[in-house]
Amino acid sequence: MERYCRDWHGDVTTGAIAVLRPRSTEDVSKAVRVCAELGVAIVPQGGNTGLVLGATPDAPENQVVLSLERMSTIRRIDADDFSAVVEAGTILSEFKDKVEEAGMFFPLALGAQGSCRIGGNVSTNAGGINVLRYGMTRELVLGLEVVLPDGSVFEGLSTLRKDNRGIDLKQLFIGAEGTLGIITAVAVKLMPMPDQVVTALLGLNSLDDVIALYRRARRDCCDLLSAFEFMPPLAFTLAREAMPDLAMPMSGDHPAYALLEISGSGLVDVSDLMERFLEGVMGDGLVVDGVVATSKAQARNLWLFREGMNEGQAKRGPHLRTDVSVPLSRLADFVRDAEKAVYDALPECVCVSYGHVGDGNVHLNVLPPGDLPRSEIDARIYRAKKIINDVLDGHHGSISAEHGIGRLKKSDFDTRLTEVRRKLLTAAKTAIDPDLRMNPGCQLSFARD
Ligand SMILES: Cc1cc2nc3c(=O)[nH]c(=O)nc-3n(C[C@H](O)[C@H](O)[C@H](O)COP(=O)(O)OP(=O)(O)OC[C@H]3O[C@@H](n4cnc5c(N)ncnc54)[C@H](O)[C@@H]3O)c2cc1C
Repeated sequence: MERYCRDWHGDVTTGAIAVLRPRSTEDVSKAVRVCAELGVAIVPQGGNTGLVLGATPDAPENQVVLSLERMSTIRRIDADDFSAVVEAGTILSEFKDKVEEAGMFFPLALGAQGSCRIGGNVSTNAGGINVLRYGMTRELVLGLEVVLPDGSVFEGLSTLRKDNRGIDLKQLFIGAEGTLGIITAVAVKLMPMPDQVVTALLGLNSLDDVIALYRRARRDCCDLLSAFEFMPPLAFTLAREAMPDLAMPMSGDHPAYALLEISGSGLVDVSDLMERFLEGVMGDGLVVDGVVATSKAQARNLWLFREGMNEGQAKRGPHLRTDVSVPLSRLADFVRDAEKAVYDALPECVCVSYGHVGDGNVHLNVLPPGDLPRSEIDARIYRAKKIINDVLDGHHGSISAEHGIGRLKKSDFDTRLTEVRRKLLTAAKTAIDPDLRMNPGCQLSFARD
């Protein structure tokens, strides 16, 4: 049971009455009915890569984990409709590969794609590196099949692009983190395969310049811009602490870096576009240095720095991980203000800020010295989180850009809710799950009447 009851980072290990592993929607429905009879609560689980303790129990004596991992059939890939129907337990990268074999593209792309599962992606409304062009998971979902808390099945696996028959009920389950039902299958949009992808890593003088570069890229490359990330110089050190064999992509040290990707298909010449774009921004002195990947392997190497940062931070010990968003126009000010506030209060800590520029999404992480006793580390993590959230409130940001609320951010979510929003959330929860048995303890605590 252990692997189902431990979070991805291994920070928290809990337990459960049992782990249920159904093979079909009918199995899920039966399991839900039995749990209802026994008065047992259910924690749905996909790949267990969520970073907010949403998929692991918090009351092991009264909860089962229901893993979707055995429901991994791709029911249909339809080239004429540019759509697919896939079971919730399918691993994201395996689904992407099958879609690619069929000559199309499913754009959801994240560091955990080799382990996370489609049902988990929908339940967290996952983001990732391609959001600026293709949107969050919500924008890729056409239909859902969901087992409701009473065991009945919401059959909404339509692949219609346009369907305005009243309230769009599937939206309730997207981002619900398993609190309203168990998603068993998903109908999604597919895209034309971008067969030309050009990736560049660029060195700049400041985060303000990175934002200015993003605006230029949106203007010059328009919708062909598919990813735009920013990273601090420390990214390279951290990535190489986790993967010592990584070859450094460029010499010299710059205060800020942008990793961007332009992609397209058909008659468009993406390499020429990148060349002309770089000529312009380097000619104007906005970009100081850069490398362009000319092969898939080189592009992969550049992305490994972005992905390896996470592992490098984990190697330095327990630390604060945030996933916040602000309006793009405030991103540079927010990072500056929040880092300054953290360093003023906790000068012994190291701030690492990076993220998806186009989405105003920042991971402002704080690493306390690894050699402190655990209680001292936890005290700094707690203090840094409070400082960052206070600065965030001043910039009208969100405490969760992509990862959801889970159990980790519950109290920060709760204290920021308006009364009207709380009333609507309570109405939705109690109407669909009146006995409060679907992932209780996740997102918000509700009281029974
Ligand atoms: C290295 C790394 C990189 C990451 N990068 C990103 C990123 O760029 N963008 C991003 O958005 N996230 C990212 N994540 C977070 C995580 O991968 C996503 O939240 C992902 O969508 C979770 O999918 P999962 O299958 O692992 O879900 P789980 O962790 O198993 O579950 C997540 C939540 O959904 C619920 N749930 C799962 N399956 C179902 C279902 N079938 N029905 C109902 N409820 C269900 C669970 O109860 C839980 O509340 C990253 C994580 C890691 C470890």
